[in-house]
Order: sequence, then structure tokens, then C-alpha cells
Amino acid sequence: MAAKTEAAEPPVGEQTEPDKSPETVEKAKAEAEAEGKPKPGQRAEMSNLDIVRHYFDKAVDRLKIPDDVRTVFWTPYREVTVQIPVRLADNRIHVYSGYRIQHNGARGPYKGGVRFHPDVDIDEVRALASLMTWKTAVAGIPYGGAKGGVNAPAGELSLAENEKIARSFLSKIEKVLGPTRDIPAPDVNTNAQVMAWFMDEYGKLHGYTPAICTGKPLSLEGSLGREAATGRGCVYMFREAAPQLGMTPSNTTFVVQGFGNVGSWAAQIMEDLGCQMVAVSDAYGAIRSDSGIDAQKLSRFIYEEGGKITDFPNAEEIDPEDLVAVECDVFIPAALGGMIHEGNADRMSCRVMIEGANSPTTPAADEILNQKGVFTIPDVMANAGGVVVSYFEWVQNLQHFRWEEREVNDKLGTIMRRAYREVSARSKEEGLPLREAAYLVGIERVVDAAKTRGYIHDPVDGPG
Ligand code: NAD
Repeated sequence: MAAKTEAAEPPVGEQTEPDKSPETVEKAKAEAEAEGKPKPGQRAEMSNLDIVRHYFDKAVDRLKIPDDVRTVFWTPYREVTVQIPVRLADNRIHVYSGYRIQHNGARGPYKGGVRFHPDVDIDEVRALASLMTWKTAVAGIPYGGAKGGVNAPAGELSLAENEKIARSFLSKIEKVLGPTRDIPAPDVNTNAQVMAWFMDEYGKLHGYTPAICTGKPLSLEGSLGREAATGRGCVYMFREAAPQLGMTPSNTTFVVQGFGNVGSWAAQIMEDLGCQMVAVSDAYGAIRSDSGIDAQKLSRFIYEEGGKITDFPNAEEIDPEDLVAVECDVFIPAALGGMIHEGNADRMSCRVMIEGANSPTTPAADEILNQKGVFTIPDVMANAGGVVVSYFEWVQNLQHFRWEEREVNDKLGTIMRRAYREVSARSKEEGLPLREAAYLVGIERVVDAAKTRGYIHDPVDGPG
């Protein structure tokens, strides 16, 4: 979470900074639309919710799941919307909206991250919550699916302002949370610090409860290996796929879209393996270099020295729109949803795509990439590393015990390999791309658990 330093408070009513309320963002979107420009934050022809529901429907049709059962999973179990009024440094009260959506809890407590981003809306959170249901099932860990979000521009706010928002949000949704009910984690623009505030706020009401959220700092019973877990999980997926595709790390080039938590760790671990990063972007720009961009150095440059990606030495600045066209073996989308769409999929020039981000590819783009022969390892399995190590953190917290980092990484590898092999076997059996096979595996497991528990009844068992 990038945060500005605290500004001195101006007198009440005197506005010195640009307005950061959601209504203003909406106005900017409407104005941009009226001028025929893309709306800020607009990335694709389809919303994240449409994307997830598209794949869900396809799988449900193939599995011949009856319509009444389909309806149960089409919508979430519980949706909580809260108002978050906070007085910011400009001394005005800004009203944000916060959401916690619990999609399905048949296989265990609800689990999913919380994002702070101006584009957050209820449909996006619904999409991400259902994706979590299928993801935890594909990974075979005992969780359901949930997601949370607040439509606040975290990157433009100070640390103290973000803290107010985080604490206010948590205190308003705590009734539906709990270590055996729903366990939040970090996502876009939230991090270990935000989880520490969540834990502290929950503790004020319930006592010291580290298992209330995961992705916490190490000093507060966070797990070794959690921060890098999602990126590391993507690399485990690459390691499984590479031999099948005749690829070796020393001959592999890759591109990362979104050098944040997931992207920067995936890049560094790919580099450790011997692969070479040839282009990378973040929200501030994009760079490329055919002789390679050192991922560890770039991470230090941005995260320790406060450098801007486009100022990184020995690399050429490129238009972020052109990143997808950079020739490479592996493309890792690790920014936001819908960034690979009908308008740019045709320009992609990679053999393999590993989806670090959630819903980065629209169905139209997926179709184009399938036709081009790009081998896609989809979000629903590729980026499960974060929730898997969150599961390990929760297990450690329940026992107040810490595992060594090597143990965490090894156990992560075991789960990611198993998920890859199970989905890959299903994909070969049914002649389907990995994405469709992963949805089949995930949905089957959730429907089975829901039936077995009696949450939904099989017609042969009598009235439900
Ligand atoms: P983050 O906030 O740490 O990083 C996001 C990165 O994307 C930042 O570098 C940001 O500058 C960049 N970005 C934003 N807009 C961009 C744009 N238009 N073009 C290029 N780059 C852009 O977030 P994160 O936790 O790394 O999450 C990234 C994605 O991975 C999200 O889709 C998230 O849901 C998904 N994900 C995260 C985790 C996790 O453990 N953090 C787990 C599973 C999935």
C-alpha cells in the first residue's frame, strides 16, 4: 500500500486537496464517457462478474447440474454493505462503501481478500467471492469463498487515513467474521499492516485472535512465506507445465503486467529459476529490455528506494498498451481484472500465460488466445498460492505455532503440484483447456460438499 505522509490539517470547510470521495470519481467517469474517452479504470468489454459467471455457466452445463442447484451458486450466501464515513486530512467527511460478500461456505469457513480501490463495486466483489469458492476447492483446502472491498483510493491517502478506513470497515463487518466463520486476507492495495489493524480492531471486541485474518506481519503471528506465496505458487505452476511444453527455465523469457505483490514475487522467483524478464509494467508505466530486467534490483528500486518504474536504468520506456505485444515465452498478468480483452488479445506474443491476477482475461480474449495456441494456466488454479499459505497461517495461528519457511514453501509446492496434476488430468480426459477443467473440478467438489452437508438436497433424498 503506497501511502503519502500525513499533511497538516487545514481549517474545517477549507478544501486544499483534490476531492477523493467516490461521488467525484463517478463524475469523472461520466465526464470521460461523455467525451468518448475510456472511463478511468475501464479495462474490458465485460465486468469481472460476467467473466466468472460465463465460466461457471459453461462448466455447469457440461456437468449437467440442474437449474435449481445452479441458482444456489449463481448468487452469494450473504452480502454485507456498509457505509464508511471518515474525516480525512482535508477535514471533510468522505463516505466510502465497504462490502463483504460470502459466496459459499459448504467446504469450510469463508475465505478471501479485501481490496481498497476506487473501482470496487458490489458486482466486482461478488465475482471475486465466487472465484474464491472455486479456487479453494481446486486447491483442495477446507475453505469456502468470500471477498471484501472498499471503494477508497488507498494509494492517494495517508497511512493514518488508510488506518481509519480499515478499522472502520472491520468494526462494521466483524459480526459476520470469525476464525471459524470468515477470515479476511490482503488483496489489491491492502497488506500486512492493514491485516494488523483488522486483527487489533477485532481483538478489541473478542480478545486476542490472530486467526481472524491472514497475511499478517511476522511480529503478529503472520506466516513465513505468506508475502511471496501467490507469486511462488504461479512459479510452481510454470514448473509443472514447462516439461510438458518442452520449455527450460534458462531459455525462458517472461513479461509481468503489474509489478505489485504478486507480480514482483513471481518475477523474482522466476529469475531465481533462471528465466529472464524482458518487460514489466505497473500503474505508473512500462519498460522493456531485450537483454533482461533484473527483477530483484527492480523490486529494491521501487519498494526500498521509492523509484518510479520508468526511471529504472538500462531499460526502454514503452507505452503500457504495447506490453502485451512484447515477444516472450511466458506472460504473467498480475494487475487488475479484464486487462487482457478483445481489443488486445490478438497482439499477445507469448506461448504460455500464467494468470497471477484474478479474472485478467475476458472470455472473448480467452477464445482468441486458445485459437492462437497460447497455453493458459488460469487464475482459479495459478494464483491459489496466496490462499494456500493463508490456510497454513490460519492452521499455525490456531495452534499458536510457527513453521519454518522451507516447510511452508514445500507444503505449498505439494498442494500446487497436486492441483495442477488433477486439473491437467481432467483437461486431457475431457479435451478441454485448463480453465474449463479447473471449473469442473472446483464446482463438482463444492456441489458435492453442499449436498453431503444437507445445505442442498439431492432430489432422491426427498424434499429439501
Ligand atoms: P498490488 O496492489 O500489490 O499490485 C498490483 C500491481 O498492479 C501494482 O504494481 C499496480 O501498480 C499495478 N497496476 C495497477 N493498475 C495497472 C495497470 N493499469 N497496468 C499495469 N499495472 C497496473 O496487488 P496484488 O496483491 O499483487 O494483486 C494483484 C492481482 O493479483 C489482483 O488481481 C489480485 O486480486 C490478485 N491476487 C492477489 C493475491 C495476493 O495474495 N496478494 C492472491 C491471489 C490473487
